Amino acid sequence: MSSDIRLENVTKRFQDVVAVDGISLDIESGQFYAFLGPSGCGKTTTLRMIGGFEEPSEGTIYLGDRTVTGLPPYKRDVNTVFQSYALFPHLSIRDNVAFGLKRKGVKGADLRGRVDEMLDVVGLHGYGGRKPRQLSGGQQQRVALARALVNRPRVLLLDEPLGALDLKLRKEMQLELKRIQHDMGITFVHVTHDQEEAMTMADTIAVMNGGRIEQLGTPADLYEQPRTAFVAGFLGKSNLLDGTVSGDGVVRLLDGSELRTRTNGNRGPVSIGVRPEKIRLGDAGVNRLSGTVKESAYIGVATEVVVATPVGELTVFHQNVEAGGGAPAPGSQVTLSWASEATFVVDRGEETE
Ligand code: ADP
Ligand code: MG
Repeated sequence: MSSDIRLENVTKRFQDVVAVDGISLDIESGQFYAFLGPSGCGKTTTLRMIGGFEEPSEGTIYLGDRTVTGLPPYKRDVNTVFQSYALFPHLSIRDNVAFGLKRKGVKGADLRGRVDEMLDVVGLHGYGGRKPRQLSGGQQQRVALARALVNRPRVLLLDEPLGALDLKLRKEMQLELKRIQHDMGITFVHVTHDQEEAMTMADTIAVMNGGRIEQLGTPADLYEQPRTAFVAGFLGKSNLLDGTVSGDGVVRLLDGSELRTRTNGNRGPVSIGVRPEKIRLGDAGVNRLSGTVKESAYIGVATEVVVATPVGELTVFHQNVEAGGGAPAPGSQVTLSWASEATFVVDRGEETE
């Protein structure tokens, strides 16, 4: 595997703010890579350093096997799509897309052919003669994408590119972006605060918190085996129960009951996590807790059931297989159970501010 981008101990300070705090990572060629994290965690700053719009305070960035320290954006084989599309309003769609190629001296049939091909890729065949204001927001976003991809950069950087679109369009564009990335085989580096967006599109996600990378992995790794409470809470819903590792694969909860789990080398105080869809009503699994249903909310595909147990409240997604759902009503006594493999363990007190 060859890496397209490498960051080595990259830090960025703005006066007294540490925006990015000693990040190291490799982005392999042809990947769809996402930086995911809450607002202010340093995603945009990281992307801007890769693009050449900011220089690191410390550390080194490589594109391919070259360091790019001090190299201006236009000399890096990288293009960026911003949330604001920044199209030229007075130019036609065709001329917007052709802009960069023209500056490189591409002309005539070659220019026309490449622009047409790109308009096809982004689904805007036949729109070349229009002006940006004659297109919808989603279509303008596609033009911005075509313009950034037409000269086939090594890497495309995308900073919250779907942020201005409504939910339905955003979902459509997520799948489109993934298709385009796949078809063109260009490395995409995407920044978002939306966990579902990152999980839908990315091969690898770097979860950021306070300028650092909290965990790196595939969407499934991060969801199934989060290593910190922050990651567990940022990617979907999870139940966390406090306990102490009392043996290999065993955690004792505060009321003395024991649960079977992967302890992954953890010792001492931990939180044991289990996702709501992995818990069943009934005693089929090795880990069992009894309690009283506190709330039951029908949400279509599932009913969200909140159960009060002696060690805390747990949320359970009961699949609505039967007509009407069939989930237990508030006040019912229930037993919850789940498999040991459905459990993860995080160090307690690791959740950062
Ligand atoms: P994100 O994109 O994850 O929301 P940013 O990378 O934009 O986060 O910002 C990270 C931190 O750096 C924030 O605290 C932000 O206020 C600060 N920051 C970003 N750019 C500048 C700047 N040009 N000058 C001063 N502080 C900045
Ligand atoms: Mg940002």
